[in-house]
Amino acid sequence: MSAPLTPLEPWIAARIGGAAPLDRAALERWQLERLAATLRLARARSPFYRAHLAGAPERLASLDELARLPFTTAQALRDRPLQLLCVSQDAIQRIVTLDSSGTTGAPKRVAFTREDQELTLDFFHIGMATFTAPGDRVLIMLPGATPGSVGDLLATALSRLGAEGVLHDPLAAPGATAKAIAATGASVLVGTPTQALLLARHPAGAGVRLRAALLTSDHVPRAVVAAAEAAWGCVVYNHYGMTEMGLGGGVECAARRGYHLREADLLVEIVDPASGRRLPEGEPGEIVFTTLTRGGMPLVRYRTGDAGRFAPGRCPCGTSLKTLERVTHRLGGRVALAGAPLTMADLDEALFPVEGLVDFTATLTRAERDHLGLELRAVPGAADPCAAVHAALERIAPISRALALGQLSLSVRSSGEGGSAGPTLRKRTIADLRGEGASHQTLTG
Ligand SMILES: [Zn+2]
Repeated sequence: MSAPLTPLEPWIAARIGGAAPLDRAALERWQLERLAATLRLARARSPFYRAHLAGAPERLASLDELARLPFTTAQALRDRPLQLLCVSQDAIQRIVTLDSSGTTGAPKRVAFTREDQELTLDFFHIGMATFTAPGDRVLIMLPGATPGSVGDLLATALSRLGAEGVLHDPLAAPGATAKAIAATGASVLVGTPTQALLLARHPAGAGVRLRAALLTSDHVPRAVVAAAEAAWGCVVYNHYGMTEMGLGGGVECAARRGYHLREADLLVEIVDPASGRRLPEGEPGEIVFTTLTRGGMPLVRYRTGDAGRFAPGRCPCGTSLKTLERVTHRLGGRVALAGAPLTMADLDEALFPVEGLVDFTATLTRAERDHLGLELRAVPGAADPCAAVHAALERIAPISRALALGQLSLSVRSSGEGGSAGPTLRKRTIADLRGEGASHQTLTG
């Protein structure tokens, strides 16, 4: 199997001052140089990093020595964002505030200069060229009203490619989205898995035809990719990124076996989430990255909390860039059922093949035993999916085991939503409410 070379490769080769084909050794030498420059900048300008890097070496002899640098955690972005700044506050073009419900304390804040945003635009421009051609119209179902927001930057990047980004309400009902696609002649859609599944399965979305779709969010279920490709006759690509990475991180090539990363801007490694030890290539662990080109708020060995691993072997597209396998869950997003882990991704992959189902919430509570309650959203006209979902749940290994041990009960009900409403954009995670009662008891006595 072969696939067209990812456009990220010639771009990154040029960024490091070379020509295609990209020389991996040259890229890693360049990353080491940029890392040294980032450490110098952080030490010189950021009060946080001056203290944080006090015991760390001035520069590393090789990337194998990365473990000599301390991690940066999300807590620093909550507690002391201003101390991470390496420029004066008037040089900051945009600050993104990330409310993370379910976690305690202040929101995370991430700041970008105009130059930092330019790097993101450059990545969006080249990354979108994987499946977008000049003249294409691209429906963007991401927030785009604020200058510097992801939708706004994407639209600007597309104009550089000679394509046109059309901003569309992320919460629009499927009927309105289908109309917008027809009215604009869009051949590419960018959105979240929840938006995609609703549009792909809703009767109002029938007739939508697209050439490509880019789905973004840390977890894109394979079952959603399959449903969207079947409904629209298109090819679905995954993007991986987070605000801390500068919004964009990596995008799949035509081989679609995981993301190629913007390795001139980000140094990505995988570490053991418990010990923090760097893991050999191919082993699963926590995704950690260091920014190599950011001036406003560089991040050194930032722990993402996402589980991931590098795909072994070379990508069929022939690139020398690494391939990060599709990210399926956050490390903190796992719950234990009778001692075995269960993630939202396990539920998504098992349940989304059920026809008519477009979304669900999962809540774990504890009375005499654990109870997993699901509330389903189905499209109008679909057969009630409750029985099929119940059967699919019983086939998930940790669930069937906990049921057999008498440590779990299940309930599945339909929410009644689904008519003409649009997608919800809440974070899809298993709500684990089992610990709350216990901790209240401890507090009161
Ligand atoms: Zn590839």
